[in-house]
Amino acid sequence: MRPLGPQGPSHEVGLSSSWYQGTPVALLTQHGKQTLIRDPLEAAMGCRLVHTDAFDTDQLGTFTGDVARAGSQRDAARSKARMGMQLTGARVGLASEGAFGPDPFSGLMPWDTELLLWVDDAHGWEVLGMAHGPARHVQRELGTMAELQQLAAEAGFPEHHLVLRPAGLADATHIHKGLHTPDALAAAFEACRNASPQGRVLAESDLRAFANATRQQLIRQALDDLITRLQSACPACGAPGYWVSERLPGLPCAECHSPTRLPLAEVWRCSACGHHEQRPMAGGGLADPMRCDQCNP
Ligand SMILES: [Zn+2]
Ligand SMILES: [Zn+2]
Repeated sequence: MRPLGPQGPSHEVGLSSSWYQGTPVALLTQHGKQTLIRDPLEAAMGCRLVHTDAFDTDQLGTFTGDVARAGSQRDAARSKARMGMQLTGARVGLASEGAFGPDPFSGLMPWDTELLLWVDDAHGWEVLGMAHGPARHVQRELGTMAELQQLAAEAGFPEHHLVLRPAGLADATHIHKGLHTPDALAAAFEACRNASPQGRVLAESDLRAFANATRQQLIRQALDDLITRLQSACPACGAPGYWVSERLPGLPCAECHSPTRLPLAEVWRCSACGHHEQRPMAGGGLADPMRCDQCNP
């Protein structure tokens, strides 16, 4: 058996890499994601990525808050994938969607969750790839060039671009996005300071994919996850995306042997034909008594 992480399959699965051979796959993006995605995806799946930028995805929501985003992150990805399919005529679409918030552990660190959703209307299924990790995201009001230098260092500038706007102005007309040279940054800072009633500037990380090296790494990881799932074939019908749909609790405690809330088995399910099976968790064994409601209530 292969050594695998907690999210990985606990058994060998068939490969379905010929399923999408030559299939056109729509990708709607204006933010340079096609250059991150094309080569690894085409090499793994044999599909043909059809990039389009014929719709302004910023109308669906932006990170800088000038356009609010509607629905869940997965819904947003699905809308984008479908829009790309409409624009190109492809029956398979792919979309990337990132979301930023506090980390799930301490709630103190900025955190990035990247989704890559594969929508196949020819067969009627979706496959989701995901990655998450610490984000490079700073946001502050500044008054001096020295404060700007300090923020730029913290933000990982210029590999991570910056956005500046005048403090105290409600409209977004004076916003400067995608700043990635020291000269452009200094000029935008002066322009924003002059436009601000308080003479102050709001500075933040540019979170668009092409402007943020940390996001690019996470999008590549989400792509690896998606490819692993797409290549996992249903043993009954051969369709791609055969994966864990739920985990069943009940791993016995090492001390008292009563069932705990830790997973005992996982259910693998095919979204194409409904075939499913129960498999014991990789590693199996017994639960730490620290996690047992009987021994450690
Ligand atoms: Zn199946
Ligand atoms: Zn116990």
